[in-house]
Amino acid sequence: ALDNHDLRLVYQPQFDMRSGALSGFEALSRWDLDDHGPVSPEEFIPLAEARGLIRPLTEWVVNEACAQMALWQSLKLVDDHVTMGVNISPQHAQEEGFVSLIAAALARSRLPAVNLELELTESVMMEGIDKRLELINSLDQLGARIAIDDFGKGYSSLSRLAKLPVDTIKIDRDFLRGVPYSLRDCAVARSIIALGDGLNMQVLAEGVETTAQKVFLKEAGCQLVQGYLYSEPLTAAECVEFLKSRLNDANGSAQSNHAASE
Ligand code: C2E
Ligand code: MG
Ligand code: MG
Repeated sequence: ALDNHDLRLVYQPQFDMRSGALSGFEALSRWDLDDHGPVSPEEFIPLAEARGLIRPLTEWVVNEACAQMALWQSLKLVDDHVTMGVNISPQHAQEEGFVSLIAAALARSRLPAVNLELELTESVMMEGIDKRLELINSLDQLGARIAIDDFGKGYSSLSRLAKLPVDTIKIDRDFLRGVPYSLRDCAVARSIIALGDGLNMQVLAEGVETTAQKVFLKEAGCQLVQGYLYSEPLTAAECVEFLKSRLNDANGSAQSNHAASE
């Protein structure tokens, strides 16, 4: 699929709840099969892992996503702080050469490391203490941001979490499904938000689909959101349209503020 250019990336926007500003994108892989239609990453990522193909796949994803964000930066379509999130397979993060692959993609694209956010799962963070700490510290030294994806699903040791240089905790969307009607799910979401707050980590809620969820999250103090309520994942071309229209809206409102103050 890589050789045939059948893989592509889509990008789902992430927003700051307080200001409404765009905070980042998450790059998500898509595989288009001629006679089958699109294959879900939930199907082909495990397959790539099993066949030992995850390294070239991640290499392609990271290079493509970094190049895309560097291009949007050079076109002044995004602010300096907007990040590009990339999902890293746990199996690959543990391989030799993983950190240099990330460093090479940053060097090639000239994307500042702070604009790249690596999404790792709890298992990568928590298993086999010393080796993981070394890996996460090397990624941190590169300057890349680190997010824990699907937080709440695994078995995080909270004392370890506090010691890791994690920038963002992504609340798993399973917990959001019950929000705001299930007391249990609300309690879990609130606890994760408080945990992130206390540890000085950003908290992002994934899979926000309804206004009721949005209202709950805002009230609970969640900083960042991503989900169909705001935007589905977009193709690169759709992202450019989306970014341009946001810029136009911002310029329009700046002009009308200016006119109003005159
Ligand atoms: P993830 O990293 O947790 O990504 C979020 C998933 O939730 C995406 O599914 C996204 O399309 C979906 N989503 C976003 N907003 C909503 C919403 O409001 N409601 C619902 N129901 N879903 C929403 P997608 O693109 O099918 O990806 C599934 C998983 O596959 C990802 O979960 C990630 O673990 C993995 N994946 C995707 N692309 C890659 C990749 O390039 N490399 C690796 N290693 N894994 C990838
Ligand atoms: Mg993710
Ligand atoms: Mg997730």
